[in-house]
Amino acid sequence: MNRAEIIIIGAGSIGLAIARRLSKTGRNIVLLERHSSFGQDTSTRNSEVIHGGMYYPTDSLKARLCVDGNRMLYELCSKHAVLHRKTGKLIIANTENERKNIEEIYHQGQINHVSNLQMIGEQEIKKIEPNIRAKWALLSPESGILDATELMRYFEQEALANGVTIRYDHEVVGLENRNNDYKVIVRRDNGKTEEITTDVVINAAGLYADKISTMLGIDIENAGYRIYWVKGEYFDVNERHRGKMSHLIYPTPTPVSLGIHVRMRLDGTFALGPNALYVDEINYDVDPIHLDQFFSDTQKYLPFLEKSDLTPGIAGIRAKLQAKGETAKDFIIRHEDDKGLPGFINLVGIDSPALTACMAIAEEVAGIYKEL
Ligand SMILES: Cc1cc2nc3c(=O)[nH]c(=O)nc-3n(C[C@H](O)[C@H](O)[C@H](O)COP(=O)(O)OP(=O)(O)OC[C@H]3O[C@@H](n4cnc5c(N)ncnc54)[C@H](O)[C@@H]3O)c2cc1C
Repeated sequence: MNRAEIIIIGAGSIGLAIARRLSKTGRNIVLLERHSSFGQDTSTRNSEVIHGGMYYPTDSLKARLCVDGNRMLYELCSKHAVLHRKTGKLIIANTENERKNIEEIYHQGQINHVSNLQMIGEQEIKKIEPNIRAKWALLSPESGILDATELMRYFEQEALANGVTIRYDHEVVGLENRNNDYKVIVRRDNGKTEEITTDVVINAAGLYADKISTMLGIDIENAGYRIYWVKGEYFDVNERHRGKMSHLIYPTPTPVSLGIHVRMRLDGTFALGPNALYVDEINYDVDPIHLDQFFSDTQKYLPFLEKSDLTPGIAGIRAKLQAKGETAKDFIIRHEDDKGLPGFINLVGIDSPALTACMAIAEEVAGIYKEL
């Protein structure tokens, strides 16, 4: 039987950031991933935005880990040549209600210690983004974009270099807690199962983090760990508009998402999205029927767009703790010893801004690990 000191489930941005961070402890670490390579689920199916951190409630993990993660990511990307750009971002307003909304975000940003936020008016907006229509905007100079695949490759290579064993095509299908040891049952791509025992299990399974929690007997309804899948589709914008904007452009947010915004790519092309649809299955197709909605939502602030500029692009699925109609929930990152599971570090509801926060989340987990 195989033995490890730490098992991490899931090689998305979170599992990989944790593997890299904990690899410095010199422990025998095994990272298990059901796909044949990293980041096949949510970590490559998103806007790749490095968020500033102004949206999230005071003292929430999302606020703290986003602001810290933003700084840590820029440092790492600059030092290790991971492609990124500090584009800055405008959250725009065209009505009085929207203006009040962005002012509230500005104040929340001050409370969350987001640097350099500024409220700007139409004249200034015209100077920096002449092609968009907006009366007011909140400028967040610390927001930007990055290549998430490159970031994960960097984490993967660092973890491997520090001795972590990464097993792709290994799906965790069972977990048992036996006298504070864990038996992890994995199914390989050839259908065979094997068992690994470990002292510590870290659940970074993204869309399936609630399923992993259930395997250890946690009642996810009582604990508030049920994950709702919320799909976000993107439409690509014709390349003829490449370079028409230099900042990320966002409308005011809705309760479930940051709104259909301009997703800027590092090559200057862009897409629009994501929308927010509660779904019961994992399916990354983009429904062309939603094109009209995307066009009418964005044409208000991107007047140069024509409907024929839009074509279906990628989609991603958010792992949300909020049921339809509920308010947004914070990340859950905790040691489950009070549930009779010492050594089980659980990460549930790791939705946006977790790509931005991944390094700070890894630091948080390292702190919990140290106290075990
Ligand atoms: C549309 C959209 C836009 C977003 N935009 C942004 C953004 O611009 N900026 C930002 O900061 N955040 C953004 N996010 C959020 C961010 O992408 C996610 O929070 C982050 O990628 C989550 O990473 P993860 O590692 O937890 O999950 P994942 O990337 O999903 O990784 C989890 C891994 O666990 C594996 N796994 C699951 N179950 C098992 C099992 N039983 N055995 C083995 N492996 C298993 C999966 O295969 C997967 O590889 C966005 C999300 C969406 C959906």
